[in-house]
Amino acid sequence: CGIFGAIGLADAANFVALGLHALQHRGQEAGGIVAHDPQKGFNSAHRFGYVRDNFTKASLMESLPGPLAIGHVRYSTAGSKAAVIRDIQPFFGEFSMGGCAVAHNGNLTNAESLRRELIEHGAIFQSGSDSECIIHLMARSFQKTHADRIADALRRVEGAFSVIAMTRTKLIGVRDPLGVRPLVMGRLGDQGYVLASETCALDIIGAEFVREIAPGEMVVIQDGKIESSRPFHPATPRFCIFEHVYFSRPDSQIGGRSVYETRHQIGVELAREAPVEADLVCPVPDSGTPAAIGYSHESGIPFALGITRNQYMGRTFIEPTEHIRNMGVRLKLNVNKSLVRGKRVVLVDDSVVRGTTSRKIKEMILDAGAAEVHFRIASPPTAWPCFYGVDTPDRGKLLAARMSEDEMRDWIGVTSLKFISLDGLYRAAGEAAGRNAACPQYCDACFSGDYPVAPSDQIGKGFEM
Ligand code: 5GP
Ligand code: SF4
Ligand code: MG
Repeated sequence: CGIFGAIGLADAANFVALGLHALQHRGQEAGGIVAHDPQKGFNSAHRFGYVRDNFTKASLMESLPGPLAIGHVRYSTAGSKAAVIRDIQPFFGEFSMGGCAVAHNGNLTNAESLRRELIEHGAIFQSGSDSECIIHLMARSFQKTHADRIADALRRVEGAFSVIAMTRTKLIGVRDPLGVRPLVMGRLGDQGYVLASETCALDIIGAEFVREIAPGEMVVIQDGKIESSRPFHPATPRFCIFEHVYFSRPDSQIGGRSVYETRHQIGVELAREAPVEADLVCPVPDSGTPAAIGYSHESGIPFALGITRNQYMGRTFIEPTEHIRNMGVRLKLNVNKSLVRGKRVVLVDDSVVRGTTSRKIKEMILDAGAAEVHFRIASPPTAWPCFYGVDTPDRGKLLAARMSEDEMRDWIGVTSLKFISLDGLYRAAGEAAGRNAACPQYCDACFSGDYPVAPSDQIGKGFEM
């Protein structure tokens, strides 16, 4: 998901809408904004669909007045699709000291047991979302301020969370102790501050990047002042390495590094680890493009856009009829036949999950007359599900959980298949000595099975670590 908050700006909801638009890649299913105005109080709007189709309408934006607002764009994960409008964040609660809205990015690994416990003690849940636990835990805290109640609540949850919250006067940002999901702060004008999942959302409104919220840090922003605290036991940070590979936008900066640079460097590392004699390097657009440029640069094999992506392919278009569904990847991607005919093609993509996309793309490339297809993947084999907020299917549906690299090559049907090594990925992300096995610098559980937070809700459901 993507989260954004703004304080000290006239009609803050407009800035939030723009910020969410820049974060749309983090969630396309739905979006919501809560705003507060000293005269008109809290107002909110929650809508299915893209930000641009909802939060651009003057009538809607006029209903969200005030200098303080937060918002959320929702990512559909298989198990927790927003079925009703009540599932859309931010969530809101009234407390003795006033209202508070909360937007959460990440996934809580003990949400199911917390929910059961909270319901037993009288909580009335409005949604099916794990994030709603935060509001109910706040309600049960005896702390005097919203911020202290948020800290209390977040000390009870496990998993990954970057949270943006607002009261009548304060904008609050928190990151879990491992800092699995990103969260940054920006400044705009004299008194304006914003919090966002990624720096690309600061750029769109012309805000200046101030700094990242640190893992385990809470910031409370009011009247142009920032208070910082550390409400959790300190831990060694484990930022999600998949943010670098796929999830974040390439024009964002993470930990002082450009995401594009890291992806480009992954391609360079891949060319060193898995060279091949070929005529063309083609990305699977758009996620494979920076790595393909890096591969081409390092190998000297010419880069070409052998596949074109239809930019207007919305998610809602995917399902209409069985016949169209079966056309699958063709609706989105098309091979530039005259480019690839007779060529030995290095095809670069970011990841192989189920493998179904890879298989169809290979078919299209071979149908177009390519002589050989050498598949190069900008991440190690995805052999484990993510429980921290990235949508991966059950372990049984992950190709790499069932097959060796050679078996995957044969199943996809390509001439060769190579994944970047975990060490190569770490080097590309700026860790010159590679992965520190004793104390890994990132979360890489979907590749390594090394889960930094035990997925406790999974216990007893047939998931084995
Ligand atoms: P596969 O067919 O192997 O399951 O799909 C792999 C493709 O899915 C890759 O091209 C990659 O860009 C894309 N992908 C990787 N991770 C995610 C994700 O978390 N969500 C979505 N929607 N697509 C993903
Ligand atoms: Fe990121 Fe993978 Fe860890 Fe999930 S399991 S947080 S996708 S590195
Ligand atoms: Mg892709």
